[in-house]
Amino acid sequence: MADDTPTCGVLRYNRDGGLSLCGNKAHNAGKTTDGAVRYRTIMVLHQRVYICSVCRRRRNKALREMEWRRKGREYLKFRKNYCENMDGRLGYICTATIIHPASQLAVDHIDGNRENSDPKNLQTLCHNCHGFKTFRNRDSANKVEPNPPDASPSEDAAPTS
Ligand SMILES: [Zn+2]
Ligand SMILES: [Zn+2]
Repeated sequence: MADDTPTCGVLRYNRDGGLSLCGNKAHNAGKTTDGAVRYRTIMVLHQRVYICSVCRRRRNKALREMEWRRKGREYLKFRKNYCENMDGRLGYICTATIIHPASQLAVDHIDGNRENSDPKNLQTLCHNCHGFKTFRNRDSANKVEPNPPDASPSEDAAPTS
């Protein structure tokens, strides 16, 4: 009996760095009401291709991570187009000339907690001032790093005594 299962058309990197079609059997998504087997497909460059369960899991994971990263950067919309230390809030007056906010300015979490993106906890600093503030406050010492959605649990378990 011939196996007419369609194969996965997702491009994957080989060990040598080249690209080739995955070729695994397509993910079987059960039968339709008229008894035909349905296979999972995705759109790649406006073309519908079959996808296997391995590629499907990988893709879903990548999509979740993208969503998580996007959410993690939402506070960037509060970025102003000047360094707020021009009022001297860090103990000296910043005179940086900003011609390109996206590359020259950072949105700083005033209390050092990146989870606290309340607009009142945000200020726009140029990278020069941000570096100085981070050094002075030792933000990195008490920085709270959010975990990606399916990060493996922490390995430093509590010591047993
Ligand atoms: Zn595949
Ligand atoms: Zn500055």
